[in-house]
Amino acid sequence: MAIRELSSQLINQIAAGEVVERPASVVKELLENSLDAGARRIELDIEQGGIKLCRVRDDGVGISADELNIALQRHATSKIAALEDLEHIGSLGFRGEALPSIASVSRLRLVSRHREADSGWSVETVGGKTAPVAPAAHPLGTSVEVRDLFFNTPARRRFLKTERTEFGHIQSVAEKIALSRFSTALRFNHNQRVVLDLPVAENIADQEKRVARICGDAFMEHALYIERSAGDLQLRGWVARPTFSRSQPDLQYFFLNGRAIRDKVVTHAVRTAFRDVLFHGRHPAFVLYLEMDPAGVDVNAHPAKQEVRFRDSRAIHDFIRRTLETALARTRAGSVDATPPISLAPAAAVAQHQSALSLGHSSSLSSSRVGESLAAYGALAGITDSRIDMADSANDSEMPPLGWAVAHLHGAYILAQNREGLVIVDAHAAHERVTYERLKSSAKAGGIQSQPLLVPVQVLVSETEADLAEANPAVFERFGMAVDRAGPERLVVREIPVLLRDADPEALLRDLLSDIKDAGSTQRIEQEIDDVLATVACHGSVRANRRLTLDEMNALLRDMEMTERSDQCNHGRPTWTVLSLQELDRLFARGR
Ligand code: ADP
Ligand code: MG
Repeated sequence: MAIRELSSQLINQIAAGEVVERPASVVKELLENSLDAGARRIELDIEQGGIKLCRVRDDGVGISADELNIALQRHATSKIAALEDLEHIGSLGFRGEALPSIASVSRLRLVSRHREADSGWSVETVGGKTAPVAPAAHPLGTSVEVRDLFFNTPARRRFLKTERTEFGHIQSVAEKIALSRFSTALRFNHNQRVVLDLPVAENIADQEKRVARICGDAFMEHALYIERSAGDLQLRGWVARPTFSRSQPDLQYFFLNGRAIRDKVVTHAVRTAFRDVLFHGRHPAFVLYLEMDPAGVDVNAHPAKQEVRFRDSRAIHDFIRRTLETALARTRAGSVDATPPISLAPAAAVAQHQSALSLGHSSSLSSSRVGESLAAYGALAGITDSRIDMADSANDSEMPPLGWAVAHLHGAYILAQNREGLVIVDAHAAHERVTYERLKSSAKAGGIQSQPLLVPVQVLVSETEADLAEANPAVFERFGMAVDRAGPERLVVREIPVLLRDADPEALLRDLLSDIKDAGSTQRIEQEIDDVLATVACHGSVRANRRLTLDEMNALLRDMEMTERSDQCNHGRPTWTVLSLQELDRLFARGR
C-alpha cells in the first residue's frame, strides 16, 4: 500500500478511539467544557444510556457565530495559546480534540449564544460533515446535542454494553463532576426522569448535603471534615472514620485543582495514612480536594486527562499522608467531634450522631431517667443496681465523655454510664489500641534503635537500586538500618532495627528500595515496626474472661479518652458504642 496522508475525518475518528470510549466519555467532555465556560447551571439529558442522545446545556460564556465552526476543528481551543500556558493549566480542557472527535462518530448539533451577541447560532455535523452556520434561538450559553453515537463506526458500536450499564457509567461521570464543582448547579435526566438535581452549594452545610446525596448518608454520618494548608498546598474534604470502610475502593474521590484524578502517589499516601486503623483488605472512603499551584503538576499526561505527574511527588505524598493521619488521630473515644463507631440502624445512627455532637454540653436528661433506663438494662445483664447508684451519684459536670464503669459483662464488655446513656466497651480491643499507641509513641520518642548484624547480609541488586541506596543513606539511618555499597550491583546490610531483629534483612531492604523507587518515600520500616508493636500490644492486653475491678475499668476508659485512634482497635474493629437513652426508651417502647 502506498503511503498517503489520512483524511481529517479519519484522523478525528482515530483520536475518538482514545477520547470517546463510550457515551460516558462524551458526557465527561461536554460537562467539562461547560465548567470551563464558567457555567453556573448545567442540564444534562440522556436517552437510552446516552447511545441515542447526550445533551448538555449550560449558561456559560457561549461561543460566537464565527467561532462555532472553529470549535469543531481539530486542535482548536480557546484555552491555551503557547507552551507557557501548557505549563500551568487552569482549565479542564486544553487539547482541542473533544468536539471534533465526538463529531466524527455521531450526529452533533452545537447551538450557542455568546455573552456579547444578541442572538444564537447553530451548526450541525453528521459524521464529521458540517453544514453552514445558521441562526437559532438560544438563551445565553451553549447546548451540545450528540445523537446516535458510533452510528458510522459499527465495529465500535458493538462494543457498547446494555443501556443500563452505559447509564451507570454516565451516572458516575455526572456524580464526579458534581462533586468537583460545588458552585455549579447540575440537573441530570435519563429518559426524561430526574436522576440528580443539585443546587449550588456554597457553604459547608450545603456541600455536605451534596456529598451525602452522592456518597450516601452513612458516609456523611461517619465523615470527618478536614482542612489544612501548608505553603501553596491546600487539602480539604471528608474522610470516613475507619469503622466505615468499604470492601472495594469505590468510594474514593480525589480532585486536583477541580479535576478528578487517579494517581499512584495519592493512593499510596492515603493507604499509608489508614494502614494503622483499617481491617486488612478493607478500603477507606473519602472525598478530597487538593489545591496547588498548577505549575507544580503536569496534567498533559493522558488523553482523557485523568492521570497527572507531580513535579515534587514526595512533598505531595507527605502532605496528604500527614493531613489524614492528623485527622484520623482525632478518632479518639469520647472526643467531642467523634461519632460512636457502630451504627445500630440508620435512624439510630442519626440520633447517635446528634447526641455525640452535643457531648460536653449540658445535658437535658434527668439523672433519674438515666437511673431508670440503666436499671432496666442492668437487670437484663444481671448487674446489681447499687453499682448503678454509685455511677448515678457522679456529678454531671464531672462526667467524663465515656462516663463511669458500672459492670464487667461476661468478662468481655465494660458497661459504663455517661450523659447520653449506656456506653459499651470491648475491653480487650480497647486495651490493645491503648497499649499499641503507647508503644508507638515511646518508640518514636526514643528514635528507632538499631542493632548490628552478627554477619552483615550481602544483597544483589540492580545498579539503579545500588545508586538509589547510596544516594539516600539518611532514609535508611532514620529507620535504624545501616546499608553500604559493596560493588556496582551489591549492597550490604550492617544494621537493622532492634524491634525487627527477627525480620529478614534482605526482604526488608528490597521492600524499602521498591518503596523509595515507587512512592518517592518510604514507610516500610515504620510499618514493619508498627506491625511488631501491634503484635506485642495484642499479647500484652487484657484477655477475655479476666475479671476487671471498677478502678481498672475506669482507668481504661480514661486512657481511651486520651488515646489517639482509640475508636477502633488495631485491626479496625470498633472499640465502643453507646446506647442513648432515646434508644433504650425505644427498646422498651417507652413514650409511645
Ligand atoms: P478543549 O476543551 O480542549 O478546548 P473542545 O474540543 O472540547 O476542546 O472544545 C473546543 C473549544 O470549543 C473550546 O476551547 C471552547 O472555546 C469551545 N467550547 C466548547 N464547549 C463550550 C461550551 N459549552 N461553552 C463555551 N465554549 C465551548
Ligand atoms: Mg473540552
